[in-house]
Amino acid sequence: MNNILSDAFDRDHLWHPYTSLLNPLPTFKVAAAEGAEIILADGRRLVEGMSSWWCAIHGYSHPVLVEAAKRQVERMSHVMFGGLTHDPAIELGKLLLQITPPSLTKIFYADSGSVAVEVALKMAVQYNPARTDFLTIRSGYHGDTWNAMSVCDPVTGMHGLFGAALPRRFFAPAPQCKFGETWDPNDFQPMADAIEARRSTLAAVIVEPIVQGAGGMRFYHPEYLKALRKACDEAGILLIFDEIATGFGRTGKLFAWEHAGVEPDIMCIGKALTGGMMTLSAVLTSDHVAERVCAGEAKCFMHGPTFMANPLACEVARASTELLLSQDWSGRVAQIEAQLSTELAPARDLPTVADVRVLGAIGVIELKEPVRMAEAQDFFIQRGVWLRPFNRNLYTMPTLVTTPDQLSKITSTMCAFAAQ
Ligand SMILES: *Cc1c(COP(=O)(O)O)cnc(C)c1O
Repeated sequence: MNNILSDAFDRDHLWHPYTSLLNPLPTFKVAAAEGAEIILADGRRLVEGMSSWWCAIHGYSHPVLVEAAKRQVERMSHVMFGGLTHDPAIELGKLLLQITPPSLTKIFYADSGSVAVEVALKMAVQYNPARTDFLTIRSGYHGDTWNAMSVCDPVTGMHGLFGAALPRRFFAPAPQCKFGETWDPNDFQPMADAIEARRSTLAAVIVEPIVQGAGGMRFYHPEYLKALRKACDEAGILLIFDEIATGFGRTGKLFAWEHAGVEPDIMCIGKALTGGMMTLSAVLTSDHVAERVCAGEAKCFMHGPTFMANPLACEVARASTELLLSQDWSGRVAQIEAQLSTELAPARDLPTVADVRVLGAIGVIELKEPVRMAEAQDFFIQRGVWLRPFNRNLYTMPTLVTTPDQLSKITSTMCAFAAQ
């Protein structure tokens, strides 16, 4: 590998996500990023197929976001949210309430997706402290902190080895009816049984609506969510939608719950909230949940991180969300979806491929064997593309500013990789 791209200090001292410090996978030094491209330290440009883990929906260094950040950093980059408030939090909040489920009216700002999930689970317990169990579906992913880990799939969710150190949660099988295929009501039966079995101790059911992301890149049937909403209502159990990955247009709707038309009691958003420029997440809930939480023993909600509602992050999030809404984002996602469908389809016939699926701006080639990461990354970089597969999933989540030619480069690289 070209020397300029690897760094000895980095290799010896810096941990990267899910990597070994003893035998680290190569890392590639990035000098800059603009539009739909990452520019490596040796000057090579890579077409960004990942949107930096689903965040950078407007690509990099978008002038609108850069301007918002500059403006805000000069005014006030941070003040505590305890006892103080500010326009960036207020204006972002107004905007979020216009685009999220109508029944959700209260917003808690947190600093990352995982923390948003922690907050959602805490809300559910404070809603009714007599109920402390949580139920979810297999193949889910909800983050890397303790309680978020506990509701990840015990096998594919990357946290199996924490075993008994994690609080015990309950798992129903992952939905089998795929998005766009025929609905079979039997698909919901295991979840119905699981709810019935613990209806007096369950605080909430938490799921990623429609798209299960880092736990397996699966797209399931909207009827499942309708049945889940009904079952939760009948049992008096809260329903939490983790829209951290699916939000802000990624699945073709602004938020994935819209595919089913059923609203959650609590919803987590993050990732693309700031267009990938800052870390920020939010938890939304209803008047009813907020009232019960705050009427309980503590008389308040027991959470409040240092960087809560960071003004810089809120202002960038507001700018990013307005930028998204100001354009024909759904037309753009539909174009990406159509192009992904056409260009990834040929991979379906390859002997190495188990499945090809596309929903919104998400394209997946599921291989029969796990991807060997170091080899794969070299393969992609040599072809001028940035992709980061996991397990057997070779996938792309392009930015909205990716041109058709750039997208073709991503899809042809994916097909070529699958074919070898
Ligand atoms: C990424 C993700 C999280 C965790 O977010 P972080 O910002 O990495 O903590 C939680 N839930 C889902 C569905 C995610 O995709």
